[in-house]
Amino acid sequence: MKKNEKLQKKIFLDRKSDWGGLSKIMSFSEGYKEFMSSSKTERLAIANIIKALESSGFARIEKVKTKKPGTKFYKEIKGKSVIAGIIGKDPDMFQVIGSHVDSPRLDLKPSPLYEDAGLAMLQSHYYGGIKKYQWVNVPLALHGVIFTKSGKKVELSIGDRKGDPVFIIPDIEPHLAKPQMERKPNKIVEGEELNILFGNIPIDDDDIKEQVKLAVMKRLNEDYGLIEEDFNTAELEFVPAYEPVDVGLDRSMVGAYGQDDKVCVYTSLQAILQVKVPVHTAVAMFVDKEEIGSVGDTGAASFMLQTFAGDYLSMIGSDLRPSTLLEHSRAISADTTVAMNPNFKDVNDPQNVSYLGKGVAVEKYGGGGGKYNTNDAHAEYMSYMRGLLDKNKISWQTGELGKIDIGGGGTIAMFLSRYGMDCIDAGPPGLAMHAPIEVMSKADIYSAFRLYKVFFSD
Ligand code: MN
Ligand code: MN
Repeated sequence: MKKNEKLQKKIFLDRKSDWGGLSKIMSFSEGYKEFMSSSKTERLAIANIIKALESSGFARIEKVKTKKPGTKFYKEIKGKSVIAGIIGKDPDMFQVIGSHVDSPRLDLKPSPLYEDAGLAMLQSHYYGGIKKYQWVNVPLALHGVIFTKSGKKVELSIGDRKGDPVFIIPDIEPHLAKPQMERKPNKIVEGEELNILFGNIPIDDDDIKEQVKLAVMKRLNEDYGLIEEDFNTAELEFVPAYEPVDVGLDRSMVGAYGQDDKVCVYTSLQAILQVKVPVHTAVAMFVDKEEIGSVGDTGAASFMLQTFAGDYLSMIGSDLRPSTLLEHSRAISADTTVAMNPNFKDVNDPQNVSYLGKGVAVEKYGGGGGKYNTNDAHAEYMSYMRGLLDKNKISWQTGELGKIDIGGGGTIAMFLSRYGMDCIDAGPPGLAMHAPIEVMSKADIYSAFRLYKVFFSD
């Protein structure tokens, strides 16, 4: 018996929770919560990333002319994406980690403002895959940019500072919800019902038809110089006004909005900030628009990485072609995946799902039933990654995103791998992804950070 127990221990897979280095895990999450609190939109996240890069000696790529290993540089793409790099001893290959700065939220429609039932209201159009019923009765903050007719850029930020008012979409009370509860589950709250409370005090003038709308518009005009037409050209986003918090009696988890995927943004940012002279050129890519398919000029499906590679090669005075450099590179698509939820175990295969606390989840593929819409990492590359994790004693796990035919999800892995570079998905697993508040384990956050750091240096 003893002999077989020994054998079993040696050859069976057994992944345990790993809270070794507890004080490091806990203190790392403090900085993380701070970042999350001030990085709720893609623009705010990018501004914070650039601030951190610059104070660590990264310079805009057009200002750098050097081949010296250890030189730090970055490129900003329209305030919504950033690619940062550190020249390696071997500059002909990238070690890329890509994460996304955008998260599901409520954007405003082009003409959002109206008055109804004595209330000024704003119409929203949700961004990304949300369960719409989760976004009612949640305190919301407003962030974004809006231009005046003369072209002056106004940055709005209301709801996240102490003492600020917040905004709310009121749901139907249970007393009157009988017809609502008979709706199909996916129609409990519909897109056109996600209208946001914006004001209630009317202008004191009975000759005016929309007195409340005029009152809020007057306030916007006095405070920011805005007129209603300015909404037509604006980018205004409503996000949960929740502050990041510790979850659990043991403070083991973080509850925050937008952890998909700013958990990977923060961990890979901290990782590259700690790298001095990497073996190969380390590249951290922070991209926008993942939640709607990585589209547009700030999404990972654009040519931004190839253009960046071209800029980099001319910066270091290399004759290498960007396509050759990228083909020889290695990548991690740093993104969150699902963790086993004890309340809803049915949607996952218990043997092929990640668990909170067991380390960074390294996935060969994402996608859905039949492995559509994903990268499928090569066994050779999986093996490289396993070696890196083992060598550095980083706890990790693997799995799939849900049971085979239930659903699935995409990441930027398929857009990185099309350059010919090896790519793998790796990030902390989470609960309640895309909800106004998502939950991650601090152990997994730290484990992801450690993986990204050794990967950048390798
Ligand atoms: Mn994601
Ligand atoms: Mn997502």
